[in-house]
Amino acid sequence: MIPAAPLSMQPRGWQQAWRESVRDPRELLRLVGLEAEADAVPAAALEAFALRVPRGFVARMRPGDPHDPLLRQVLPLADELRSVPGFGLDAVGDAAAKKARGVIHKYEGRALLVATGSCAINCRYCFRRHFPYAEETAAAGGWADAVAAIADDPGITEVILSGGDPLSLATRKLAELTDRLRDIPHVRRLRIHSRLPVVLPERVDDELLDWLRGLPWPVAVVVHANHAREFDASVDAAMAALRGTGASLLNQAVLLAGVNDSADALAELCERGFEAGVLPYYLHQLDRVAGTAHFEVDDARARALHAALVARLPGYLVPRLVRELPGDTSKRAL
Ligand SMILES: *Cc1c(COP(=O)(O)O)cnc(C)c1O
Ligand code: SF4
Repeated sequence: MIPAAPLSMQPRGWQQAWRESVRDPRELLRLVGLEAEADAVPAAALEAFALRVPRGFVARMRPGDPHDPLLRQVLPLADELRSVPGFGLDAVGDAAAKKARGVIHKYEGRALLVATGSCAINCRYCFRRHFPYAEETAAAGGWADAVAAIADDPGITEVILSGGDPLSLATRKLAELTDRLRDIPHVRRLRIHSRLPVVLPERVDDELLDWLRGLPWPVAVVVHANHAREFDASVDAAMAALRGTGASLLNQAVLLAGVNDSADALAELCERGFEAGVLPYYLHQLDRVAGTAHFEVDDARARALHAALVARLPGYLVPRLVRELPGDTSKRAL
């Protein structure tokens, strides 16, 4: 009667899981029992920045709740179409800090590689909604420009893989880079910023773990969860496997109105993350990019929320509240 059962037991590759992501808002809303809301999704917002959500992430949404904090991060809203003064296109000034194709060297000692423009999920609050990163990636041309820029600057001690999402690249492609970085004596650390271990934990497969284990440097993986409910058993398992390679796990979150802008939600995020083996790193104020103003929390409230965390959590579970501004030499503490 149920011949598909053995098939569903087979581990699917992460690329397959990624390809099966939900792309249609109507389907997303049907899956969470909110089909009646589908007509409110504006075609123009969808056209400006497509919807994309892995099914495992959808499964963590609370059925029937239009204010679900996970749903709010991915569902296109009419609010995105408002033009708001101060919300522009290059909010963090990265265009000025470009050192080579896909290499941003803004902060001392650290070179950030825009490894790829792809992500497994499209987060509505993200600066990425405006950029055609595909032609600007460090991975293009076998990483040649990026490797040359890093080799030429003995001041670079840490290489940061960012994007887009660097773990949306095949592991073989990542290995191509690290094989070349091995020969550069001044590189001492590798950092990977990725939302995939949270939104598509299937990505943490044996091949990725083998690659991480074989790296010659200490590795930090900075994951990105904004709400405690983004963690479930599959994410816990992915984090445990990553930690098993010796990597340090940190979380960065963005402070988002309607998602995590309460002391309870933020404290629960930090505590739940720690249960998965992840320490809080940054709580970012939103980058002021067009189409995201409805997610903004003003600085006074952000400071009050942060003070509430300081009052109720151990110091090691309190993230640094920061904002990124053009021209700064580090993230700015609020
Ligand atoms: C955020 C960022 C870094 C890393 O900053 P840390 O404070 O070390 O986490 C490096 N380069 C760029 C361009 C960045 O935006
Ligand atoms: S870069 Fe990060 S925040 Fe932006 S869409 Fe990709 S996963 Fe989401």
